[in-house]
Amino acid sequence: MSYYRMKSVEHLYELFLQMFVKQRVPNFIILYGDPGNASFDISLFFAKLINCSSTNNGFPCEVCTNCTMINQLKHPDFRIVFPKPKLDSKTSDVLFNSTIINNPFLDYRTWQLVMKSDNKQLIISKDDIQQIIEYMNLPPVGKYKVTVIWMPEFMNSNASNSLLKILEDANNNTLFIMITNDFYSVLPTIVSRAVTIHVPQLSRDDMILLLKQKYPDEECDRIVDSFYGNASLIYSESIGANDKCWNYFIRWMRALYKEDYLTITCLINELSDLGRENVNNFIDYCSRMFQRMLYIKVGAMELVCLPEEEIMVLKKMSEMFCFEDIVLVQSSLTNIHNNIMRNANIKLQLFVFNPFSRCNSVLLGT
Ligand SMILES: [Zn+2]
Repeated sequence: MSYYRMKSVEHLYELFLQMFVKQRVPNFIILYGDPGNASFDISLFFAKLINCSSTNNGFPCEVCTNCTMINQLKHPDFRIVFPKPKLDSKTSDVLFNSTIINNPFLDYRTWQLVMKSDNKQLIISKDDIQQIIEYMNLPPVGKYKVTVIWMPEFMNSNASNSLLKILEDANNNTLFIMITNDFYSVLPTIVSRAVTIHVPQLSRDDMILLLKQKYPDEECDRIVDSFYGNASLIYSESIGANDKCWNYFIRWMRALYKEDYLTITCLINELSDLGRENVNNFIDYCSRMFQRMLYIKVGAMELVCLPEEEIMVLKKMSEMFCFEDIVLVQSSLTNIHNNIMRNANIKLQLFVFNPFSRCNSVLLGT
């Protein structure tokens, strides 16, 4: 992995360094925060630090066999457990490793897209945990055996119960690191055994530096706001999709305003063909556009960060709504998003939405 040390999480590198220097390596750590944070990078940093053959001023050297193999996710003392489809073969292991190496900020939704498992739920099964228990019970080849449990919120209850047993009597040279975006869905009995650490979202400056590795400088400032702190999206195709989203958004809003039901129907058919995840990404995008209308209304133009032409359109649109209307529209979009996540019919969900309809305010409030 070739990215730089991020300033927004510098205090966490320092915290782990102190644990290492004072020989207080815990058996179990939970890193929690919003999607697209640096938890995985921090886990690798710690795994390298405690296994490195020649630490350099208290930092992993990055060049010894241990550091190199951990970076490549090939170290015999390092494993990752992650949600995958039931009855999955080894193929998703290879895919997951290459995905997270390319995108260390990977979030669950991006992983779902990579797996093309639009509606299928991915889980961490009892078998996955069983294999880890057997693996962790063997002595390490080097100093520490490390297992990262990525998104433990997708463990079923059998898997959680199996894991609890090994956490109760973990050996001194084993380390479990859980990385979760939904802290409160992890069993309290599991949480109570862990050192819990919050991982903040990357700062705007860190995100811009990451973007500069992939995009021209003049683009970075403009696109960083589309991510709302979720660095995973920098590595997905969503940047190219931004223009598409804008076109869909404008076509949809114009058709809704004119109550042009033929265009609305065609557009909804087109959108629903894109699949559940993409529709939800689009709904999030619409919500962000309404958020920007709020910024425009209160004069916070520095937060808008869109091309001039798009700002002009949003400015005109924002004049049609009062402050409360926009908040209601956003709440309606959140409901649509959640309903689609729960497998509701996409077309029906989209058909009931119309921010311009007077009676919509009543519907939105329900
Ligand atoms: Zn090293």
